[in-house]
Amino acid sequence: MEWNIMPEFCALIILIIVWMYEKKGNNIPSFKNRVFKLCLMTTFMGISSNIISTIMIEHYKELPIWATWIVTTIYFIFIPLMGMIYFYYVVASIYIKYKEIKNVLLIASIPTFFYFIAIIFNFFTKLIFDISPEKGYVRGELIGVTYLIFYFYCLAIVFLVAYKYKKIEQKTIRILLMFPMLSTLIVIIQQTHKYIILSGFSASCALLIVYLYLQNKQIYIDYLTKIPNRGQLLNMLDFQLQSGKKKEKIALIVISLREFKIINDRYGQQIGDIFLQEISKLLCKISPKESVYRFNGDEFAVLLSGESYTNIEQYVNQVQEEMNKMWRIGEYSTYLSIAIGIVRCSSDNRTVESIIQSVEYAVAMAKKKKNNYICFFDDKVLKEMKRKKIIAEILREKLKEESFEMYYQPIYDVETKKFLYLESLIRINDSPIGPIYPNEFIPIAEETGIIIEMTYVILDKVCKFIKSVIDNKIPIRCVHVNFSPLQFSQMDLEERVIEIIKKNGIPSNTIKIEFTESALADSTESVIKFSKEMKKHGIKMGLDDFGTGYSNVSTVMSIPFHTVKLDKSLVWMAMKSEGAAIMFKNIIGAFKGIGMQLVAEGIETEEQKKAVIDFGVEQIQGYYFSKPLPREEALQFLKENSK
Ligand code: C2E
Ligand code: MG
Ligand code: MG
Repeated sequence: MEWNIMPEFCALIILIIVWMYEKKGNNIPSFKNRVFKLCLMTTFMGISSNIISTIMIEHYKELPIWATWIVTTIYFIFIPLMGMIYFYYVVASIYIKYKEIKNVLLIASIPTFFYFIAIIFNFFTKLIFDISPEKGYVRGELIGVTYLIFYFYCLAIVFLVAYKYKKIEQKTIRILLMFPMLSTLIVIIQQTHKYIILSGFSASCALLIVYLYLQNKQIYIDYLTKIPNRGQLLNMLDFQLQSGKKKEKIALIVISLREFKIINDRYGQQIGDIFLQEISKLLCKISPKESVYRFNGDEFAVLLSGESYTNIEQYVNQVQEEMNKMWRIGEYSTYLSIAIGIVRCSSDNRTVESIIQSVEYAVAMAKKKKNNYICFFDDKVLKEMKRKKIIAEILREKLKEESFEMYYQPIYDVETKKFLYLESLIRINDSPIGPIYPNEFIPIAEETGIIIEMTYVILDKVCKFIKSVIDNKIPIRCVHVNFSPLQFSQMDLEERVIEIIKKNGIPSNTIKIEFTESALADSTESVIKFSKEMKKHGIKMGLDDFGTGYSNVSTVMSIPFHTVKLDKSLVWMAMKSEGAAIMFKNIIGAFKGIGMQLVAEGIETEEQKKAVIDFGVEQIQGYYFSKPLPREEALQFLKENSK
């Protein structure tokens, strides 16, 4: 009998290629991944024993019978084993926890177990096959059992996938069914082409497809640094939480490169990429094996568990020490600044999502620190995070109901000795957690983006307030409204501001928009464009908190705004030291020189008031005159003081 084993050779080559790729990179030691390795191994054994036994059977006369017998027996062992292991793989793809499936796997092994006994006894019974010096290879009466068992597992796969189809992704279903489908196809083809051996070919193709779609590690490798990416970190964390020994401690450390954008801007993207590659190499060198991941563009994660967990402090110190050294890439050298967020937890009662959220929060907190940019996510930080979440929820609710309260702080005009200006200041006096102050909730509104819509609601409320001031015939020049730096990222900002003012029917010059130096730093172009547009409509602009940031004087000068409000810290400093007083006077002089009006805020005493008037400030705001007042009280205050 002549068999064509060419397809089996091709199958072997495909299999070896898949196996080689599979070995690359680090692997999560999950049950599924281990079974996939077993699939490759059994298929390899099945195909190679098939090839060898076919050749040996063809040359049985020249070879010792016992050798042909052994190789053929090995082949007969691996045929149903391939089906069984592939069934295991399907089970492991559906159920993650090994403990859950232990019994299913045991029961599923029973047919193979009995078949193994039959194959061993085949030596005496010759029910599966026989090889004799006279006739060579002869099929036994029960040879069908081998294929029956193989197809039993194929059928079991189809049933299992059908039974659990709701739990499995559509794409995964198709791929898992590939093995039984291809095997069936081969049976059909074999009916007409009996002497071409195709069984290994179908298995190899099925494994190739499974590898490409379900086991391919390339999709979990970061293209730039060649280390596992965030997706793989999530898989690994999930694996640790699902299969980890109860109470096993794990630590997730995220190392964030502060201001990496500067390196990209200064040296260009290409050099930036090389920096990232070098950093990744260094982290891999100093970290436990296979523990480093690329978390985000300029963030790396290190996942520690077991023994390495106990040395976290030491490890973090080493990371800091190594990272803070001078970095040299070709002709470029620079220092890098890093922020480190650390979450330590035990594998029970945590979810991947909560760990990632915690570590991201810890990194954000670490970045905000003034020095030693490390933040351990402990109970205190957890409490802070929870409070922030609650506040964000309150803000959303208040925004929906437009139920923020606006307070107004009168501003004294030195020349007329009247209160012709006010600053609108938002308040949350009633909430489930009591009053919340702007210094706490405004940054949260900014982080969550809520501030954008909130500002339009505020502007609308302020316009309505101005309308009632005008209707009450109270003299007013303008009300200052605070705009967050984030507002300037809005494409339709100009239109919306103008629309709100027009809708309320108030003169546009009764509004003054206050922006801070950080708005200038973040979006210079947008602020300049916006200010010019506002000027066309007669809406004023004012720089707030001058002296707290690092404004570029030339930028400040290029913006058409009317007033500069000196930050309270600057005013208070000028009261304390003579040097600061001189500086204060010079700043005022410089701004007045280009036609700007100066406002002093935070004036609490008679002495401070006198001093700022002496310095030449035109408007004064502070508790000395009045605290911010609710709408009605502010109206009353203006009425009484306008006479
Ligand atoms: P800001 O715009 O610089 O507002 C001045 C802050 O100084 C106000 O605090 C005001 O109550 C306080 N203040 C005024 N006079 C004195 C004084 O004599 N002594 C002291 N110690 N403080 C004084 P507030 O209302 O707590 O607001 C804090 C910050 O929150 C504001 O600083 C502003 O940046 C932000 N904010 C307040 N309302 C809004 C708003 O409607 N929108 C936006 N985007 N930010 C707002
Ligand atoms: Mg302000
Ligand atoms: Mg201010």
